[in-house]
Amino acid sequence: MLINKNTNILHSVSELVNVANFGWVTNVLKLAMKTLSNKAHGLAHVQTMVNSSLIQPQRAFAMKLDGKVEVFINPVFKPSVIGGSSTEEEECLSVNGKFNVSRFKKGKLISQNQSPVKLSGFDARVCQHEIDHLDGILISDSGEKVTA
Ligand SMILES: [Zn+2]
Repeated sequence: MLINKNTNILHSVSELVNVANFGWVTNVLKLAMKTLSNKAHGLAHVQTMVNSSLIQPQRAFAMKLDGKVEVFINPVFKPSVIGGSSTEEEECLSVNGKFNVSRFKKGKLISQNQSPVKLSGFDARVCQHEIDHLDGILISDSGEKVTA
């Protein structure tokens, strides 16, 4: 599985997924996650676009929840501000190195293809990382590089 490291495409804002495209976007993300097996906790559609410039990055991502891969289309993360935030190390298949990134600890994931999901801790962090991808933001933009 090749992962997109083209920062031009990775910095673009993904377009809202049309209902007619929910099916194939879901399949692409599930297949990509399967190919990556345990290497990825989450994956945004734009990261799967290696040789294709014919389509726009689609606003969708996959993540593992309770060991199962779930796809979220046109997602929004509503943070619980009173839940606070924390800064932790993150890695990304599209970026070299580790970065300290601040994220909300809790929130609700709303999407157009799944019931709302309450997330906290690591899952909330993965979700915010992936939604940043959909807005063209990488950990190298939002975080601070960890120097060994
Ligand atoms: Zn990433």
